[in-house]
Amino acid sequence: MDDHLLNKIPAIAGGNPVREKEKYIIFGSPRIDEEEIQEVVETLRSGWIGTGPKVKKFEEMIQNYLNAKNAVALNSCTAALHLSMLATGIKEGDEVITTPMTFAATANSIAHTGAKPVFVDIKKETMNIDPRKIEDAITEKTKAIMPVHFAGRPCEMDYINNLANKYGLIVIEDAAHALGAEYKGKKIGSLGNPTCFSFYVTKNITTIEGGMVTTDDEVFANKIKILGLHGMSKDAWKRFSDEGYKHYFVNYRGFKYNMTDVQASLGIHQLPKIDQWHNIRTEIWNRYNKAFKDLPVILPAPEEEDTKHAKHIYNLILKTEELIKDRDWILDSLHREGIGGGVHYTSLHLHPIYRRMGYKPGHFPNTEYIGDRTLTLPLSAKLNEQDVEDIISAVTKVLNYYSR
Ligand SMILES: *Cc1c(COP(=O)(O)O)cnc(C)c1O
Repeated sequence: MDDHLLNKIPAIAGGNPVREKEKYIIFGSPRIDEEEIQEVVETLRSGWIGTGPKVKKFEEMIQNYLNAKNAVALNSCTAALHLSMLATGIKEGDEVITTPMTFAATANSIAHTGAKPVFVDIKKETMNIDPRKIEDAITEKTKAIMPVHFAGRPCEMDYINNLANKYGLIVIEDAAHALGAEYKGKKIGSLGNPTCFSFYVTKNITTIEGGMVTTDDEVFANKIKILGLHGMSKDAWKRFSDEGYKHYFVNYRGFKYNMTDVQASLGIHQLPKIDQWHNIRTEIWNRYNKAFKDLPVILPAPEEEDTKHAKHIYNLILKTEELIKDRDWILDSLHREGIGGGVHYTSLHLHPIYRRMGYKPGHFPNTEYIGDRTLTLPLSAKLNEQDVEDIISAVTKVLNYYSR
C-alpha cells in the first residue's frame, strides 16, 4: 500500500503513526523554563534546601495572586486535604460528602481521617457534583462537603455554601485543577473556605510535588502549619537557621508534609506565568473545539456565566453509540499514534477499595456514563504548533476510522 493510504489508517490497525516513537507526546508533561532551573540550582548551592525562605515567598505569592488571607505550603494537595479535615476535627465515624468524578486522593484523604466518603452524583454537562443532590446525602454524621472543581470549572459555590450554612457543615474545596479559576469575580481559593491546590507534575503549575491550603482563618492556617511539620511549635523550621538554635515544643502527633525550598524554587517562577499559560491553553482549547465539532464526541460545555474556567483538563466525551470501538480502544489507538491521552476519571466508587465500602455499579449513573466515555487530550502550555496539529490529526483520523 502507498503512504497516502497508510496515513489514513490508524497505526493500531497497521497504518502509519502520526508521530514517531521518539517524538511521543507524554500526557501532562509540564513546561519548565530556564529561570526555574536557574533558581533550583541556586537553591541547591545556597546551603538551605529544606523548608525556608523560598517556601515563605511562594506562600506569599500565592496569597497575593488569589487574594487569600492565608496560604500554607505543603508537599501535596493530598496532604492539604488531609490536614484541612484534621484541623476541622473530622474523625472516625464522621461522613464527608464528595464527588466520585475525581482522583483517588480526594476520597482517600477523607478515609485517612477515619471518616466515610459519601459520594453524590455529578451533572453530566459540567462533570461537577450536582449540588441539588447533596441534601439527600446529608445525615447526622455529615461534617463536611468536599466539592472538586473538575477540570478547573468552578462548582456552584453559592448553592453549596448555603447548604453548608443551613446544616452547620464545613466546606473544603479540592481545587487541585482550579488554580486561576474564578467564581463571581473572586479567585477560587479566596471564597473563605479552606481550599486545597496541587502543584503535581501535570497540574497548571508545578513544583514536582506540592500543595497549598488557603483559608480566611489565621488560627486554622497555623494549625495546618503545625500539623504539617511534626506538630512542632510554629516556625520550628527555623531552628537551625542563622538566627541561632531555637527550642521547640511538640504539641501534636503531627505529620511530615512540609514543602522544600527546592520545590518552591520552581513555584516562584511558575506562578507569575500562570495567566500567560492560561491564554496558551485557551487557544489550544478553542482549536480543539473547532477541529472536533463534527466528530462523534461531546465537546466541553461552555464556561458558566460569571466564572473563569482554569482549563486544566480538556476531555472529550465519546459518543460510543456512534463508534465501533470503545473508549479504551480509542485511547490505545491515540497512544499508537504517538499521543499520550488520559482518563479523568473512572468513577471512584467502582474501585475495589470503595466497592468494599458497599458502593456498586449503578449507584452514580452520570459519573459512570462519563467515566466510560471520557478521553483527555494533552493541554500543557508546553505544546507547540506541530504538537497541537498532530494531536488534532490523530484524533480526527482515529475517530473517523472507527465511526459507524
Ligand atoms: C492531583 C489531584 C489531587 C492530589 O494532588 P497531589 O498534589 O498529587 O496530592 C487531588 N485531587 C484532585 C482532583 C487531583 O486531580
